[in-house]
Amino acid sequence: MKKHLRSFIYSKTRYSWLFTLVVMLFLSGCGHQKSVETQDITGNYFDTYVSIRIYEREETEGAISFTQLRSNVLAQCENYEKIFSRTRTDSLLTALNTTKALVVSSEPTLDMGSYETISDSAHLYRLMEQGIRYGALTHGALDITVAPLVEAWNINQGVVSIPANATIAAALSKVSYEHVHLDGAKHSITLEDGATVDLGAIAKGYIADQLKDYLVSQGVTSAIIDLGGNILCIGEKSTGPFTVGIRRPFSTPDDVLITLSISDQSVVTSGTYERYFEDNGIIYHHIIDPKVGYPADSGLQSVTIISPASTDGDCLSTACMVLGLKDSLELINSLENVEAIFITTEGDIITSEHAEDYILARNVQ
Ligand code: AMP
Ligand code: MG
Repeated sequence: MKKHLRSFIYSKTRYSWLFTLVVMLFLSGCGHQKSVETQDITGNYFDTYVSIRIYEREETEGAISFTQLRSNVLAQCENYEKIFSRTRTDSLLTALNTTKALVVSSEPTLDMGSYETISDSAHLYRLMEQGIRYGALTHGALDITVAPLVEAWNINQGVVSIPANATIAAALSKVSYEHVHLDGAKHSITLEDGATVDLGAIAKGYIADQLKDYLVSQGVTSAIIDLGGNILCIGEKSTGPFTVGIRRPFSTPDDVLITLSISDQSVVTSGTYERYFEDNGIIYHHIIDPKVGYPADSGLQSVTIISPASTDGDCLSTACMVLGLKDSLELINSLENVEAIFITTEGDIITSEHAEDYILARNVQ
């Protein structure tokens, strides 16, 4: 039975521009100022607000203009959306989910001049490969075949309802990343046993990494890529590292609990407060425990991952929300160059072994 409950959904689409603006103001307000002219590339993609601020770009001979650079970046964003979106009927992922099989093409799709691109299906293959790798590493806490559960809960769409047990059981039976087969030799992707893929937990990280590679190839040495709060830095500012804020859960987007100092790294946060509804004092959020079929109830409100690559950060932040503190700490401390900051449901801040090195300030009330 569908109930239209009091909705407390925090819509990334609606408010992420505000969050981004605040992060920007916060970024520019911190540290020393240098009167460099920044260049911004902005747009709405991936159900969120995309914002790239370039601080420095080397002027090499034959370099393309900023107008061309912006146009190329936006064309790439548009293309990534058409590859990875589960909800767009014209996306490549929808084609895969419908036909359950896809041949990976070796022909590049986008023409970016001298910059080498790959085919849409090759992007899909590569990201799914990462998703499966992290599925295995996290024993299924991250599971890219979670789509039937995401659909059953429908939390991303604004209509909120608690699915019937039978609906959850039916969805659960189709969830297992082991039903995805990637064949490198045959260049194919196959979905078995009715599996359906959702890349919402990992696509933004991958796209950020791809955009960084592109921008660096075009001479950018200092920039911040912000895909709705999924942050990836290129280098640092001329005055030093970037400052990136971690939000206080369930507060306003500008309420920064922890300030990080970041150079050339990614900062990705997954949190229960990002998309949720509340019923009878229980919060139902968008990060699903693929083994249980319900929103993860692991004692965490948010997990922030600091890592060189944003794909890793995006995969791990979602997975840790499912795994809970103990298993996550063990996992993160076993990985090189990856740090995590956890905020528990009690509001405690717990850090992985070397995460303190990145913390500039805590605004604990
Ligand atoms: P993130 O905000 O990166 O933590 O990703 C959350 C999104 O990933 C959700 O909106 C779903 O689309 C999807 N998702 C939810 N739970 C999982 C899970 N356990 N594994 C993989 N994807 C998930
Ligand atoms: Mg994620």
